[in-house]
Amino acid sequence: MPVLEIAKYGEPVLRVRCKAVERVTDETRRLIADMFETMSAAAGVGLAAPQVRVPQRLFVYDVGEGPDAIINPEFVRREGHVVATEGCLSIPRLQGDVARSQKVLVRGLDRHGKKIRIEAEEWLARVFQHEMDHLDGVLFIDRADPATLHWLTDEEEEERVKVGRERRRRSAAAVPEAAAAGESRD
Ligand code: ZN
Repeated sequence: MPVLEIAKYGEPVLRVRCKAVERVTDETRRLIADMFETMSAAAGVGLAAPQVRVPQRLFVYDVGEGPDAIINPEFVRREGHVVATEGCLSIPRLQGDVARSQKVLVRGLDRHGKKIRIEAEEWLARVFQHEMDHLDGVLFIDRADPATLHWLTDEEEEERVKVGRERRRRSAAAVPEAAAAGESRD
């Protein structure tokens, strides 16, 4: 499973409205597997298909409980309001405060094309909203409070990667096949 190149700020693919996935196929599952690898290598918590230059409506995420994917995600419900700091693998090292819903209910399809509904709160809810924005060509800097935007120092970036690696180890322990996939690259 190759690690894909992540599209960076300025590339037009990050600004398009992505198309729905019409059929979940082996090709979709290959893309998702590659996106898991790419997210893990970049120590990210989420990655949307347009970030690997595939303008389709799907994203992957991993907050430490094993990687997962949602295809054609839609909000069923959004509640509350919370402000927290975000960054994006397509705009490395930039962070800023973004207001998001505190709790969301998302529906979509899983890797096998089965209908799913996932309720998320706090950090996971934030990841879902950030990644779903990507599918509409919206970036966190569009929503961030401009006064809070700042670049991470070398030390802060190292800390972010370190925390990401620890999260990946927890995820690998939670999902044995992810552990095997991760270890083959280390
Ligand atoms: Zn992002």
